[in-house]
Amino acid sequence: MPDEYQDKPLAAWIGRDRYRDAILPSLTVILKTGGCRWNRCRMCSYRHERYGPMEPRELECRLLGQLEWIRKEFRISEVEIVKIYTSGSFLDPVEVPERILDVAAELFSGKLVIAETRPEFVNEEVLTRFRERIDTGSWETPLYLAIGVETTNDHIREKCIGKGFTFQDFLRGADTARIAGAGVKAYLLAKPLFLTEKEAMDDMQTSIRELKGHAEMISMNPCTVQRGTEQEWYWKQGAYRPPYLWSILSILRDSPVHLSCDPLGGGQSRGPHNCGRCDQPLVKGIRDYSLSGDRLLLDELFDTWCRCREEWEFVLSEEKPYCMPLTR
Ligand code: SF4
Ligand SMILES: [Zn+2]
Repeated sequence: MPDEYQDKPLAAWIGRDRYRDAILPSLTVILKTGGCRWNRCRMCSYRHERYGPMEPRELECRLLGQLEWIRKEFRISEVEIVKIYTSGSFLDPVEVPERILDVAAELFSGKLVIAETRPEFVNEEVLTRFRERIDTGSWETPLYLAIGVETTNDHIREKCIGKGFTFQDFLRGADTARIAGAGVKAYLLAKPLFLTEKEAMDDMQTSIRELKGHAEMISMNPCTVQRGTEQEWYWKQGAYRPPYLWSILSILRDSPVHLSCDPLGGGQSRGPHNCGRCDQPLVKGIRDYSLSGDRLLLDELFDTWCRCREEWEFVLSEEKPYCMPLTR
């Protein structure tokens, strides 16, 4: 069969990830699926990465093809962590037929698996079955659910992101995960639309505090401007600026728990950025910290001198929030 017709994941790569205090080899896979059922967050272009309409049976075949491709392409025995993302929810049975979970569990058995889902698809029975199938006794918690709660603030999640679920929904999903023997990795989004730099920083600091006891791992994504999104529309008009790297460093530094953070698009106008002169060492440093957990490195980076530092401080104190009319 010609190569272009072979089913492949959207992306898959070998890397390293921090788990507790160890740095372990990992495999990240982004599966192409039926697509996110919610499909309307303001900053998200991943939701466009999907197969067109097709019968569940065909979707199942396509996904089986992708898993087969992974089996052939990688030495899975050499990785310890497997992270499974889709452009939506791995646990949504419409997006990923349930049989795929069984095949994936067999393929990744014995690994520490992190799989992404929206909370409404966390089903105790399905999750228990998946967890039992990957569990060979190698890990105290062999499965974590990655849930993009984005913020603990329901107004920000609803108005600035359009995520369509509440913090209570997240907590319910997290509780069910726990009953099924899985842990939770929460994803936060730093600086969605409509927030000032200061509001965005405060939101992250509050969210990290309020996630205490509800997530064993937290990953913070600085917002990037993805193509074809509502966020891009605002950005093009100068009505949105991604977060300063200074803000990201400051949040990481003040956090009482370790946050993993990969500043995608760091240093570019669509990604988290400073002035252009100081960006690259800071982006690299944030990635290094994410893996090493070295807090002294964060202090050093934060003390780097650059002229844009004053600009950032000015923005924090002077930027005014958008104001919507209270009446019509
Ligand atoms: S952010 Fe997640 S839930 Fe929202 S539209 Fe994108 S894939 Fe769907
Ligand atoms: Zn600078």
